[in-house]
Amino acid sequence: MKHVTEIIQSSKESHLKLFDNINPQLGKVLSTIGFDKNFVRAQGASLFDDKGNEYYDFLAGYGVFAAGRNHPKIKAALKEAIDLDLSSLVQMDAPLLAGILAERLINMFGHGVRDTVFFTNSGTEANEGALKFAKAATRRDRFLCLEHAFHGLTLGSLSVNGNAEFRNGFGELLPSETVPLNDLSTLEEKLATRQFAAFIFEPVQGKGVYIPEKSYLREAVKLCHQCGTLVIADEVQTGLGRTGRWLACEHFDVEPDIITISKALSGGFVPVGAILYKRDIYHQVFSRMDRCVVHSNTFGKNALAMVCALTTLDVIEEEGLLQNAREMGDLLYEKLVLLKNKHDWIKDIRHVGLMFGIEFGRPDSLKKKLTWDTVHKLDKSLFAELIVMPLMSRHRILTQVSGHHQDIVKLLPPLMINETHVTHFVEALDDVLNDCDSITGPVFRMAANLAKHALT
Ligand code: PMP
Repeated sequence: MKHVTEIIQSSKESHLKLFDNINPQLGKVLSTIGFDKNFVRAQGASLFDDKGNEYYDFLAGYGVFAAGRNHPKIKAALKEAIDLDLSSLVQMDAPLLAGILAERLINMFGHGVRDTVFFTNSGTEANEGALKFAKAATRRDRFLCLEHAFHGLTLGSLSVNGNAEFRNGFGELLPSETVPLNDLSTLEEKLATRQFAAFIFEPVQGKGVYIPEKSYLREAVKLCHQCGTLVIADEVQTGLGRTGRWLACEHFDVEPDIITISKALSGGFVPVGAILYKRDIYHQVFSRMDRCVVHSNTFGKNALAMVCALTTLDVIEEEGLLQNAREMGDLLYEKLVLLKNKHDWIKDIRHVGLMFGIEFGRPDSLKKKLTWDTVHKLDKSLFAELIVMPLMSRHRILTQVSGHHQDIVKLLPPLMINETHVTHFVEALDDVLNDCDSITGPVFRMAANLAKHALT
């Protein structure tokens, strides 16, 4: 038997029992909401459990699988790279593959502004580096971020997190302030103090899928530059075609000083991230030969990550995934608007390309209002969960609740989905919303059940 197969088959315990070694609280949540499947295989936009059931993946590993899971071209490139016995991680060297990828990223995403790259192992590490570089370049300590912002969960990135739920319990973080999205006067007021090293934002916010007004980001960048504050665009989730463009910043005509990318760049195989930034910032950080590794990491430029990234960029280009994201995004939006006309549970549908937030709200009819109010009395985040759960249990579609205390379901499917996936999703959501209409229906029973679980 092959080695990996043997490891998998030799396990005496269930996947859930073994997960107790990692995060038993998350294990309990998975069981409660019916996400405790044992997935054994994946292909494209599909996952398969140990009973052979197929699931449509509208989560894409939080945006990692732009090209779909286990893409044959990325797999082949990885196998080839392994067979070449490459001299990865020499450390005291200038690895060719990293140089090739850096050049490609600068050509694609530098736009003549950002001409230097630092490679990381994750999205949060890219943002950590960006914040650190901004401190060095401006000699300022404070940061500005947006309400609902999410930039990762290590201490630096957590300091610019716009959600109290994530920050609470971790004591004092880096000095930062939060400003509301689309509010230029508050931003201007803060910037005028000239204390802020950087303003960091997601061009489309992951938590809630909030989309800035067209002129907001442009004006914000202008104000930052007038006040000596650097601009960091976190494109960890939005980058690489998710919004139908290579970068979401392109929708808003802004050129930040620093851009961070990660997630999809990995092809879903080897973690990788990158900071693209201006050469003058580089010179402030790596200011002398004895400071040449003042910011560095062990695995950042590893050959397999570079190969995954280079091949993923090829696949996204060759398969026209940006155009597909735009077309499928528009199709899904059109179909969801029809559903919104039918179900007054849906209050708003926000999307750019294939990044979707479906927001629910208190319906008009008296009977449905009662359901809405009861569910919200039980828990503020419960309603969206009551949509996500039957989508999974009855229709085998993975989606997610967008954030704490939000009535928003988020969709982040692979960029290679087709009309069949779109239609299946819309029909499934229609069915789930039909069930919400009945106060004695399955959705309501599920709410009661969940509340019981929460109490125990
Ligand atoms: N920034 C954004 C916008 C993200 O969506 C995420 C991950 N969801 C991160 C940063 C953090 O990335 P990672 O989980 O790789 O640290």
